[in-house]
Amino acid sequence: AQERYASLRDLPAEARCGARIALQMNAGLMADLPSLAGSGAEGVGLFRTELQFLIRNTVPKRSELAALYARVMDAAGERNVAFRTLDIGSDKVMPYMKRPNEPNPAMGWRAIRVGLDKSGVLRMQLQALIRAAAGRPLTVMFPLVAQMSEFDAARDALQRELDREDRLGHRLPERVQAGVMLETPSLAFAPADFFNRVDFVSIGGNDLKQFFFAADRENELVRRRYDTLSTSFIAFLQLIVARCAEAGTPLSFCGEDAGRPLDAIALAAIGMRTLSMRPASIGPVKSLLRKAHLEELRAVIEHAQARGLESARPAVLDYAS
Ligand code: PEP
Ligand code: MG
Repeated sequence: AQERYASLRDLPAEARCGARIALQMNAGLMADLPSLAGSGAEGVGLFRTELQFLIRNTVPKRSELAALYARVMDAAGERNVAFRTLDIGSDKVMPYMKRPNEPNPAMGWRAIRVGLDKSGVLRMQLQALIRAAAGRPLTVMFPLVAQMSEFDAARDALQRELDREDRLGHRLPERVQAGVMLETPSLAFAPADFFNRVDFVSIGGNDLKQFFFAADRENELVRRRYDTLSTSFIAFLQLIVARCAEAGTPLSFCGEDAGRPLDAIALAAIGMRTLSMRPASIGPVKSLLRKAHLEELRAVIEHAQARGLESARPAVLDYAS
C-alpha cells in the first residue's frame, strides 16, 4: 500500500471537479520531520509544541526551544508551519509542573487558559518562536480559544514580544500570522469582528467534537458513540465554514478525522480547503479525494440532511464506493 501511495506523492490533491485541497501534516517531534518530504505534505498544519515539553524532565530553555523551532522551519523550507502554543493540561501533563487537582481536566485549566493566566511560559515560548523565525514568516496558533477576548489577549502578548525583540535590536520575522484553534462551540458564535481580526481559524476536531457531543475523547465508553458525519455536527461545521467565508478568513481542519478518507472528502465537500493530518494518512486521503467530485458529494450530504437522517455517513460511503 505504501508503494501505491508513493506514486501519488507528487500528484496534486485535486478532486475530480478541479477543486484543490491543501493536505498538510500534523507534527510535534523532530522525528516527524523526515515525513514532510516523504508524505507529500504541503506544510505543517499543526505543530504540537507541547510534545517537546512532555518528553523531558525539566522546562526547556528559551535558547533550546528557539534552536529547535528553527530546525523545524529549516526542514519545512518554503512550506508553512503552524506552531501551536503549549496545549497543556487535560490529557497532557508535564511531570515538572504542579497542576491543580481538577474534577474535569478536559474542561479545566488548560491550553491558552494556562498561557494567559501564567504568562511566563507563553512569553518565553513566543520569544523562542520569534527568534527562530528571524527573517522568515511565522505562524502562531493559539489552542482552545473559547471567546474573542482570549484571542485578543494572546495576540497582544505576541505583539508585546515582537516589540520587545525589536527594541532589543533582534531581526524580526518577515511576516506574522496569528490564528486560533476552534475547539469549543462558543467560538463559532463569536462576534463577526473576531473573524475579521483573526488571521486564520483551524478546527481542532478532536476537542470540538468532544465538546459538541459532550463525549469525553479519552473515555472508551463514549468516545466512538457519535459520528463526525452526523448531520448535526456537519450542520455545525457548515456554520463555521460560512462564518469564515463571510469574513474571508482562511479555515482548516486539523483533528484526527481529517486523516480518515471518507471524513476528509466530506469535510472538503462542505467547503474546507485545508486539511491537516498524520503523515501516513495523506496518501489514502489524496487517493480518495482525487476520485471525488466535491459538488456531487455536497449534494449527497445535503440530501441526507434534507431527508432528516441522523448521519450522512451511509450516503457518503455509498457515494465513495
Ligand atoms: C484537536 O483537538 O482536534 C487537535 C488537533 O488538537 P489535540 O488533539 O492536540 O488536542
Ligand atoms: Mg485540541
